[in-house]
Amino acid sequence: MKTLDAVVPVYNEDAILPELHRRLVEALAGLPCQWRIIYVDDGSRDRTPELLADFASDDPRVAVIHLSRNFGQQLAISAGLAATEADAVVLLDGDLQDPPEVIPLLVDKWEAGYDVVYAVKRDRKEALPKRILFTLFYRILRRLSSVDIPADAGNFSLMDRSVVDVINTMPERDRYVSGLRAYVGGRQVGVEFERAPRYAGQPRQSPLKLIRMATDAFFAFSELPLRLATIMGFVVSGVAFLVLLNVLYQKLISGAAIIGWASTMTSILFLGGIQLIAVGVIGEYIGRIYNEAKGRPAWVVGSSRNLSGRTAEPAGPLHGKRDPA
Ligand code: UDP
Ligand code: MG
Repeated sequence: MKTLDAVVPVYNEDAILPELHRRLVEALAGLPCQWRIIYVDDGSRDRTPELLADFASDDPRVAVIHLSRNFGQQLAISAGLAATEADAVVLLDGDLQDPPEVIPLLVDKWEAGYDVVYAVKRDRKEALPKRILFTLFYRILRRLSSVDIPADAGNFSLMDRSVVDVINTMPERDRYVSGLRAYVGGRQVGVEFERAPRYAGQPRQSPLKLIRMATDAFFAFSELPLRLATIMGFVVSGVAFLVLLNVLYQKLISGAAIIGWASTMTSILFLGGIQLIAVGVIGEYIGRIYNEAKGRPAWVVGSSRNLSGRTAEPAGPLHGKRDPA
């Protein structure tokens, strides 16, 4: 029988976990697969660790990775992926926005021979501004990226073992998993689904974390911002050259006096602005190169439960005296 691991990142989700676990187990139990669930506790400070400990002690098929602190959703997912061993891996959010009932549809496509089956959000149950921003994000990313990253496809997906193995070899620390998944290529297919509203509570991804994820995606999958600096340079130089011709004409031929304070100021400010933007763009890439060059482990595992064999690389578990819950 084929094996399937479900990886779920959770951060302060104690209000949702019992319902999530019930529905997830029910969905997995209906599959012709031997399954496991790997919950990745991303440094929760509510009762999430206790609840997960209960699930794990009730059922050996439930494994838990406790990260040593909050590392963010994308790294929590990466830690879970690193710990999987199954023939296929399903990723889903822990707030029931990705309904577990869709998993059988993903598995069907996998059994039909696809390497990656990503779930495409048909419509979003979010506040309007967030919906607009997300729609823009996916469209801009598609335009910028050299990789064909499908629009409206987030974490919710199924990946074949071979794809997960490739992602696990990718050493980068700023990880946008949906992008890495697209990068691998192979036979990929989308399945539409209705995204549910969050089951309870407020989003755990703060606006700042979402912006961080969006910039990670843009800068990791595109060099266009760098090229844009060059393009702006050429455009501005071209315009400056035309202005210069005009100045020479006025001075040498028409002999008219040049009153130029406003135009001088405008061009100085305009050029200054463009230069600062260009320096900022370069700085963004340098910051990211620095981050990679430091080579720190992208996440640290505090402890884990019911994980055998493969551990959640790259670092940990920690061995301090602490309450293992
Ligand atoms: N999450 C996480 N670490 C974080 C923030 C969120 O593991 O730092 C988890 C969260 O518990 C949930 C999933 O990632 O299971 C999606 O988070 P959320 O619903 O807040 O994100 P959004 O729906 O806004 O994308
Ligand atoms: Mg959510």
